[in-house]
Amino acid sequence: MMVALPYFLIKFFEVSFNNLQLIEPLLKALHHEGYAKPTPIQEQGIPKILEGRDLLACAQTGTGKTAAFAIPILQLMHQQKQNASRQQNSGYAQRRRIRTLVLTPTRELAIQVEESLRTYGRYLDIKHLVVFGGVSQFNQVNALRRGVDILVATPGRLLDLINQRHVSLNEIKFFVLDEADRMLDMGFVHDVKRIISKLPAQKQTLFFSATIPTEIKQLANVLLQNPVKVEVSPGASTVDTIQQSLYFVEKQNKRLLLAHLLSDAAVQTALVFSKTKHGADRIARDLNRSNIMAEAIHGNKSQNERQRTLNNFKNKRTRILVATDIAARGIDIDALSHVINFDLPDIPETYVHRIGRTGRAGASGVAISFCDYEEKICLADIQKLINKKIPVVKDHPYDVALMHPQPQASQQSNFNKRRNAGGGKRYGRTFRQRA
Ligand code: AMP
Repeated sequence: MMVALPYFLIKFFEVSFNNLQLIEPLLKALHHEGYAKPTPIQEQGIPKILEGRDLLACAQTGTGKTAAFAIPILQLMHQQKQNASRQQNSGYAQRRRIRTLVLTPTRELAIQVEESLRTYGRYLDIKHLVVFGGVSQFNQVNALRRGVDILVATPGRLLDLINQRHVSLNEIKFFVLDEADRMLDMGFVHDVKRIISKLPAQKQTLFFSATIPTEIKQLANVLLQNPVKVEVSPGASTVDTIQQSLYFVEKQNKRLLLAHLLSDAAVQTALVFSKTKHGADRIARDLNRSNIMAEAIHGNKSQNERQRTLNNFKNKRTRILVATDIAARGIDIDALSHVINFDLPDIPETYVHRIGRTGRAGASGVAISFCDYEEKICLADIQKLINKKIPVVKDHPYDVALMHPQPQASQQSNFNKRRNAGGGKRYGRTFRQRA
């Protein structure tokens, strides 16, 4: 999409991206995207990658991390290609061999990385391909035969293709391990190690992870040589720019509260998080019954269905997308106005990942969280992690305090029932006291 920038912004852009010593075709592509200035991870990472250094980056989705590795790799590959084509007999220019491997935990993220490469590399002659499982490998194999410079892959399908000798990693010069912590969470540790063992010793490695637990540290120590370390804190990069709010609500009223909030036209696009796959389906079904167009995306759906659902949402054919954490991982949607936590996550870092889907690259966003009685422990952990109390919205029609002064039998929570009908008012207080 062509974006017309005001003159002062173009000047600002020239200064800030020019400081990174980028070549003209990349600057042109960034201008085309309307990027005004590099994000902190780009500013810190790009020059070091261009110098040939390994990188250990602690950064999550939403910080501009994809561009932070894609842009310098495209530049280095382009320059190497030009040098090689000057040397007549190298054969480099004629034959494309895979020289960059980007490994991602999910198909969605792999597709997004490939889209970013297409975006930033639009004025360069660098070929890229994305391969992932769950779809026929026929087209992937054909594309590999035609020659590829950058391969973006998920671990399982990559190993299949290596075993069938459709892919060779012998000439890899750049290796990117994206969302390494997620890779381990999803049980890919052996696959990743097997792939690493097939890479040449001499290469430049860029390692990205939202968190750096011990296992990740060990993997990074094995893989990286004297890396530059860049840390972009979630607090500074995302959470602070997002308007967060909290709704105390009983479990059985969450769907009514959701329909109530989404009936507001100000919610242009919303990503709703559910803890379970069945829950995601149920939420989407309930919304559709309330005439709010919604679709669910999760791991039980076929790859084609997931891609179609995601495209519908990206193209604004669907206003509401309901997702589980794994399915939403890495979903990159520009201009996502709202994130709604229908269920609070058990792992507090997941809250930061989720709300980071809105408020991208400094833009403002809204994150709404529902909290029922059982989720109060998760809430406490989240507030500890982000080091602040999420502001509570009290005057909503399903507020626990409003619901329970004179509870009707059908509206009583299990918690309430355990404490007798007369405890309705007390329930409201108890709930709040524990907040
Ligand atoms: P990522 O962290 O790679 O998932 O990127 C998050 C979003 O930020 C993507 O939609 C990018 O298109 C966008 N983005 C990356 N770098 C910049 C930049 N310098 N200026 C504006 N947007 C950016």
